Amino acid sequence: MLLECVNLTMKFGGLTAVDHVNLKVQAGDIIGLIGPNGSGKTTIFNIISGLYKPTTGQVLFEGSDIARRRPDFITKAGVARTFQNIRLFADMTVWENIQVGRHCRYRQVLWDDMFHTSRQAAEERYANQYIYELLVLFRMDHLKDEIAKNLPYGLQRKLEIIRALASEPKLVLLDEPAAGMNPHETKDLMDFILKIRDMGITILVVEHDMKLVMNLCNRIAVLNYGKKIAEGSPRDIQSNEEVIKAYLGK
Ligand code: ADP
Repeated sequence: MLLECVNLTMKFGGLTAVDHVNLKVQAGDIIGLIGPNGSGKTTIFNIISGLYKPTTGQVLFEGSDIARRRPDFITKAGVARTFQNIRLFADMTVWENIQVGRHCRYRQVLWDDMFHTSRQAAEERYANQYIYELLVLFRMDHLKDEIAKNLPYGLQRKLEIIRALASEPKLVLLDEPAAGMNPHETKDLMDFILKIRDMGITILVVEHDMKLVMNLCNRIAVLNYGKKIAEGSPRDIQSNEEVIKAYLGK
């Protein structure tokens, strides 16, 4: 199992935002995490990526517990994420933004900083090659010197995902990647996410666009008031009474 959340619980004062959630993610999966607003989806992402320390429970990544570790440790272990709102460095170029995402892979050795060592040079060459290949794969190489804020919205969102991929993750957490996109951009995003899967990267996605979730994910987990109320294939989820009730509020 690549990732396993075991009895994950997060309390904020009297509010239980995540309530004993168990979730398994296998290598190669595209798992959708859905649920009404406030049901705990982002909180789970924040726990997995190390921004929140859960009240109780474990997050096993390749078998070891990463819950309560620092975000940089978790990124280095192989988990990358994007956020609901665009968090690019607006005045930096496409290339520079991706370089930032690569940063966790650089070894920090004082010796290397003082004397530009051959190992450091080799690492830089590899990094540049890797970033370039990502840009080519996602057809953004011609935009590498564009300033991020000048890109159309859909491309800014893509750039954020590419920046997350620059850390060479095994698992990527996508938080509402289709938010604010038009239908054409959403369709394009779908192909984009499939390419990420084809790179051998496992995907956990929070998304409100049901068409995207149902077409993309092989499995979907549904949250309501912090509890997992259903899990299964898109077809199972679409016909699940409890899920329909949670969404329609009946
Ligand atoms: P979702 O992503 O499903 O919309 P969230 O995980 O953002 O839901 O929020 C779940 C619940 O936890 C909400 O009631 C929200 O107000 C609360 N919450 C999230 N983060 C915090 C925080 N840092 N402090 C207090 N309450 C929070």
